[in-house]
Amino acid sequence: MESLIVPLADDWHVHLRQEAMMRTVVPQVRAGGVGRCVVMPNTVPPIADPAAAMRYRDALRALAPGVEFLMTLYLQPTLTPGMIREAKQAGVFGVKCYPRGVTTHSDRGVEDLAEYEAVFAAMESEGLALLLHGEVPSQAERDICVLNAEQQFLPEVERLHARFPGLRIVLEHVTTAEAVSCVRSLGSTVAATVTAHHLDLTVDDWAGKNHNFCKPVAKYPHDREALRAVVREGHPRFFLGSDSAPHPRHAKEAACGCAGVFTSPLLLPYLADSFERFGALDRLADFCSVHGRTFHGMQPLEGTVTLERVPQTVPDSYGEVVPFRRGETLAWRLAE
Ligand SMILES: [Zn+2]
Repeated sequence: MESLIVPLADDWHVHLRQEAMMRTVVPQVRAGGVGRCVVMPNTVPPIADPAAAMRYRDALRALAPGVEFLMTLYLQPTLTPGMIREAKQAGVFGVKCYPRGVTTHSDRGVEDLAEYEAVFAAMESEGLALLLHGEVPSQAERDICVLNAEQQFLPEVERLHARFPGLRIVLEHVTTAEAVSCVRSLGSTVAATVTAHHLDLTVDDWAGKNHNFCKPVAKYPHDREALRAVVREGHPRFFLGSDSAPHPRHAKEAACGCAGVFTSPLLLPYLADSFERFGALDRLADFCSVHGRTFHGMQPLEGTVTLERVPQTVPDSYGEVVPFRRGETLAWRLAE
């Protein structure tokens, strides 16, 4: 196969930042083959209400008029059921839940999901999606660290789904065989997103290699294989959420490096390259453009992009940001 025409992709999880960083990265969304994306609310300050979400959306649209931005609110104590109804009217897509302290700008995150029952009930009736960063904070006394933080969170997903069976729940950026089994075992309202980088990386690729460090961290080879297997199988409740998360080079290369891998500019070429290596190229279009919108009950995007089997070298940087796999050669590129 020398070329591959796929529908414009949906990226169900991306960080687009603010100010200068936003101006650098937003034009890269469409360059990577994406026509619609779910924008994370962990800005400074976090996106706390529908009006803030709409202001953020307007700023993003001005930078990339051809892309549809689906907005999210940051789950925190100020969020009320009334604001959920208002959010629905305004066209907000969902609510993002960060456990406190687990990743970039999560210091206002959630300590106890039980406090948000009324908010979740309103989301269930209004049809807003709940997007979960599925990790518990590290805790030495309970032997919890970054390697089992996702696995330890899974009972929360099961509890939420049992309590709110009509609520669309997405366990984001899954990294473990246990998370794959958990989502697979639950009902039709629970799905998972998978990043491009977690299909490629294991612990050895980020330990001591700051540019591959992200949260949740990539896990064991058998975990990566579980992600690849569920993608290869074409399971309809597993789909693309890049979690592309840019940081300036100095913040990644610091002694205490920021978590996040930047994949937006070459998202479809990264995926085509790795899907081909693990024997799933025939699943690429469904993974990127069909499963997610079907799960969320949304219309297909108009338009396609063409991947060509023409090698390209990943650039050293985009502005201040070093991309995933810099300097490496990808087997595929997007046609102009
Ligand atoms: Zn993220």
